Amino acid sequence: ENAERAKLIEAHELTAKLYHYMLNNSKQGVEAKRYLRERGLSDKLIDHFMIGYATDEWDRLADFLAKRGFDLALMEKGGLLSAKTDGSGYVDRFRNRIMFPIWDKDGKTTAFAGRIIGEGQPKYLNSPETMLFTKSKIVYNLHHARTAIRKSKQAVIFEGYMDVIKSWSAGVKNGIATMGTALTKEHCAIIRRQAEEAIICYDGDDAGQAAALKSIPMLEAAGLRVTVAVLPKGKDPDEYIGEYGPDEFLREIVDQAVSITKFKLIYSRKNHILLKEEGKKNYLLEAVDIVAELSSPIEREVYLKELSREFDISLESLKQDCHRKVQELQ
Ligand code: ATP
Ligand code: MN
Ligand code: MN
Ligand code: MN
Repeated sequence: ENAERAKLIEAHELTAKLYHYMLNNSKQGVEAKRYLRERGLSDKLIDHFMIGYATDEWDRLADFLAKRGFDLALMEKGGLLSAKTDGSGYVDRFRNRIMFPIWDKDGKTTAFAGRIIGEGQPKYLNSPETMLFTKSKIVYNLHHARTAIRKSKQAVIFEGYMDVIKSWSAGVKNGIATMGTALTKEHCAIIRRQAEEAIICYDGDDAGQAAALKSIPMLEAAGLRVTVAVLPKGKDPDEYIGEYGPDEFLREIVDQAVSITKFKLIYSRKNHILLKEEGKKNYLLEAVDIVAELSSPIEREVYLKELSREFDISLESLKQDCHRKVQELQ
């Protein structure tokens, strides 16, 4: 088992180098490189994240590994190759994809995520679960980000690899992501070991906002303070940086991370048409419920005052409704 692990890690490290080399030096890699350029990735960034390219061939990697004496059955078990259906051998699992190495906490390559160039399905193909790689326990970029997380005591959690990478180039050195899966208890515990605060920075679409609502109680349960950096509708961090630049991303998004209550209010607000009386009323009722979740009366009053001012409703009425809800919750 241990010998197999060591062999597989060795193979992954070599494979990452092969993919990276192919991106920079093969004829086929030119188009992949152009795609990355168009997405705003510099050579330096590509090197730092060891981004690579798996060529559009069936056995490029299989040949490469066979020549170096690796046991191909083990390579299949490790997710680098796939067994042919007729049992006659192995083919490359990743073909014609941009390759992102996934590292364990020590910085060893233990898996890959492969992105299709341009449109197509599946957009990302990941390594399967193997003896090296358990999605629910791996946090992308943690080994790069650890120092910055420890120093700032904060970790910024993104949805995607590209978000982490582009944010890194914008100066967010404490950014991490899950492997396209929902945040797990294990992820939260891993983050808590390095950080005191988690800044959620998910995509500005419904899926991203819904995922944020799910992640909040899990991160809190792990003992983290939680804030949310909210993106404009339809933008993810990578797209935002592409459109507005790194400085604006830091100043307007990351530095403006809001409290959980504020985030829930913003989110609820989007679901109501405030110009209509009915919508306004429903929003206010929901808003009061959100505020009622706060345990501190002072904190509750701060938010209720804001609502009172903005909607020209007496603080008394808001307090009464809120108080009723607080008692219900007890
Ligand atoms: P890109 O910027 O390259 O288009 P993204 O990160 O913005 O990718 P999203 O659609 O926002 O992609 O999805 C967020 C994350 O979910 C991805 O980074 C990836 O980890 C995961 N993911 C998305 N689509 C798939 C898929 N088809 N299969 C597996 N994982 C996926
Ligand atoms: Mn998304
Ligand atoms: Mn996205
Ligand atoms: Mn994106």
